[in-house]
Amino acid sequence: MEKKIALYPFLPESQNFVDEEDIGLVDLLENPRFASARSRARRRVKWSIEKGRIPPAENLDKELDRHSELFSYILSRLIVSCIKDDYLVKRYALSESKTFYSRIYRETSLEVKEIANSLGIESAITEQDFIVSLVDYLKSSSPLKEKSWKLVNRKIKSGKVFLTEKKFRRMLQEVVRKKIEEDLPLDVPDEVQSKLKYILEDIMQTLEKRESKFELDFEGIVDKELFPPCMNKIVSDARASRNLSHTERFAIVSFLININVGYNKILDIFKSSPDFDDERTSYQVKHIAGNHSENKYKPPSCETLKTYGICVSPDWRCDRVSHPLGYYSWSLKSRKENENQD
Ligand code: SF4
Repeated sequence: MEKKIALYPFLPESQNFVDEEDIGLVDLLENPRFASARSRARRRVKWSIEKGRIPPAENLDKELDRHSELFSYILSRLIVSCIKDDYLVKRYALSESKTFYSRIYRETSLEVKEIANSLGIESAITEQDFIVSLVDYLKSSSPLKEKSWKLVNRKIKSGKVFLTEKKFRRMLQEVVRKKIEEDLPLDVPDEVQSKLKYILEDIMQTLEKRESKFELDFEGIVDKELFPPCMNKIVSDARASRNLSHTERFAIVSFLININVGYNKILDIFKSSPDFDDERTSYQVKHIAGNHSENKYKPPSCETLKTYGICVSPDWRCDRVSHPLGYYSWSLKSRKENENQD
């Protein structure tokens, strides 16, 4: 088996290899030959929940390790499908795509072009750039919200978009993430689910631990129930691994800073985001927080948030405020008053 098949198991070549091997599900789930694939599949899914990436693979020089790597991917998808949890699907797809990105970094430009081709993205290479069709660019980069991905910031000529190699690899990461996410969950027969029971229980527990960690971390400081609908929506989107626009990021970070949520807790919210970059996000949060309380940024007003389409599902309180912070202090005050009456 070529190394590429094990490293990029979602490519059609890998799928063809699996089909030709004609290995039954029962073998995959019970045969001792696939024990290491099963154990790696479990770690693959666990790491995606706990760390947002999958564990590093063996060096894959041995045929046996390549087999295990490829079939661990097949089994991981079965595991994720059995759990039927949207958050897990998103988180798993994101983790696989991040690993893909780190792996293609070791490939030559020509190999990257070939991989892109297998993913359905045709490209041409010049000395400095990768060139793709406008349609492929728009289709692949739409979830990427940073300014640099906007068409006005890209060189375009005769319906073709020019990208640096780094940008092109990043765009491919997005293609992989979307592909994995859209293909899941698979329809898994009950018999398979019961054979995977011991792994599924372990994964469910990991998932529950992460959920409760997030809730506790967050609720220890502020109560999300007091947030205005717009801010609640941004937090939920970040938790569901949806990329946030620059304005959404600015709005939620400045909002949280102004209600005294700590810097590390704010970073935690962004960790599920497909675009999460520790260094860059830390810098942005610190910048918005300012060095002193008097130069920290305030979130935009309701009027501005409306123009950006960030004002969603306004409720009765929204009719009487002009700023998300006004909403929060009002709901906080009302809660205190109610508590005092009890
Ligand atoms: S009215 Fe203001 S506080 Fe309410 S959802 Fe819209 S932007 Fe947020």
